[in-house]
Amino acid sequence: MCCGKCKKFVMTRVYLDYNATAPLLPSVYEQMVCTLDYFGNPSSIHAEGQRSRRILEQARQKVALYLGCDEDSVIFTSGGTESNNMALRGLKDVTTIVSTIEHESVLLGCNEGILCPVTLDGLVDIEVLWSLLSGISGGVLVSVMYVNNETGIIQPIERVVERVKRRGGWVHCDATQALGRVPIHFKDLGVDLMTLSGHKLGGPKGIGVLLVRRDLPFFPLLYGGRQEGRRRAGTENVVSIVGMAKAVEESVLGLSECVERCRVLRDDLEERIRSLADDVLIVGGGTRRVANTSCLAVPFMDNQTQVIWLDLNGIAVSAGSACSSGRVHASHVLQAMDIRGDMASCAIRVSLGWGSGSEDVERFVDAYESLYRRTRKTRHIHTEHISFM
Ligand code: PMP
Repeated sequence: MCCGKCKKFVMTRVYLDYNATAPLLPSVYEQMVCTLDYFGNPSSIHAEGQRSRRILEQARQKVALYLGCDEDSVIFTSGGTESNNMALRGLKDVTTIVSTIEHESVLLGCNEGILCPVTLDGLVDIEVLWSLLSGISGGVLVSVMYVNNETGIIQPIERVVERVKRRGGWVHCDATQALGRVPIHFKDLGVDLMTLSGHKLGGPKGIGVLLVRRDLPFFPLLYGGRQEGRRRAGTENVVSIVGMAKAVEESVLGLSECVERCRVLRDDLEERIRSLADDVLIVGGGTRRVANTSCLAVPFMDNQTQVIWLDLNGIAVSAGSACSSGRVHASHVLQAMDIRGDMASCAIRVSLGWGSGSEDVERFVDAYESLYRRTRKTRHIHTEHISFM
C-alpha cells in the first residue's frame, strides 16, 4: 500500500516534461491493477495461460483498431528503442537513409545509415532525400520520425512516403512522439513500419509496439520462442501490454480535447514569455508543430541553469531530450537546424500533456521571469564592466 508520500510530492510539483515521459493515466492504472493476477503464460495451453492469452489478444485488437492496421501487424516490444532497432535491422540487403534529427535509437540503431539533412525549418529535406534515393541501387529503407521529441516539429511523412514509394523502397516512421498529439492511421499513412512507445502517452514504461506491414519480409531481432508471430521472442509483458492498449485507446478518443487544451496553454505560455523576453527564440515557432511542445532559448541563459532553477522552484522541464541530458554537448537536433552552439545550449523543452492546466503555466512563467530578470541584471553589469576595460 502506498504511504501517501508520492501523492504529496506530485501535488507540490508542476510537471512539464511529457515528452520525456507522462504520468500514468488513472484509467490505465486501474486496468493494470485489475490485470496483475493474470499470471498465466499466454503461450501455455492450460486455462491460466489461455486467460492471459485472451486479454493479450484483446489488447492487440484494440491497438489495431485505434491505429488503423491489421491485428497481425502489431508486435509488442519493450519500448520505442527496441521497436526502432528492430525496424532498422529487420530488413535484409537494404541501404538505410535516416534523417539527422532522429532519436539516438534510430541514429545508433541502424548499421551505417546515410544521413539526410533537414532544412532550417527542421523539416526533412525532400529534395536531398530524392537525390539520395536516386543514387542508390537495390533495396532501400528510409526512416523519418513523425514528430521530433525536442522541438515538436511535424515531419512531412506523406511526402516522404510518396517519394520513397515512387523509387520503390520501404519507409519506417518513429511515431513515438506523435501518438496522442496527431491523428495516426497506419494504413492510410502508407508507411511499412511504425514505432510506438507506451510511456509517452500515459501508459507504462518498458512497453512499445512495432507495426509491421503484413507482407514485409521481416526478420526478428530477438530469437527464441515463437511469440508475436515469430517476430519477437520472449514471454509477453501482459500487464503492460494491457496498460499500453488502454493508453492508446484513451489517447485516440481524447485526442481533440487534449490537443485543444494543450494548444491554448502552450500559446499562452509562449505569448507571455515573448512579452517578457523579446530576445527569446521559439524553435520551430513558424513551422507546423504539435500543440504540447515548446522549445525556448534565450541568449546567455544556459539551459542547465534553467533546468536546475525551475526544478528548485518545483517545476520539471528538460534541456533537450531526456535521454541526452547530463551530456554537455549541444543537441544534435538543434545543430542539424543550424542553430548556433551557444544558442542551442540555452534551449529548454517544455512539454504538456493530459494532466496539464493553466496553474502549471502560471507557475512556470513566474519562475522563468524571476530567472530571466536576474540573468539580465547580471548580464547588464557584466557588459558594463567589459565596456570599461
Ligand atoms: N523515439 C523518440 C522520438 C523518443 O522520444 C523516444 C523516447 N525519448 C524513443 C524513441 C525511445 O522510446 P523508449 O523510451 O520507449 O525506449
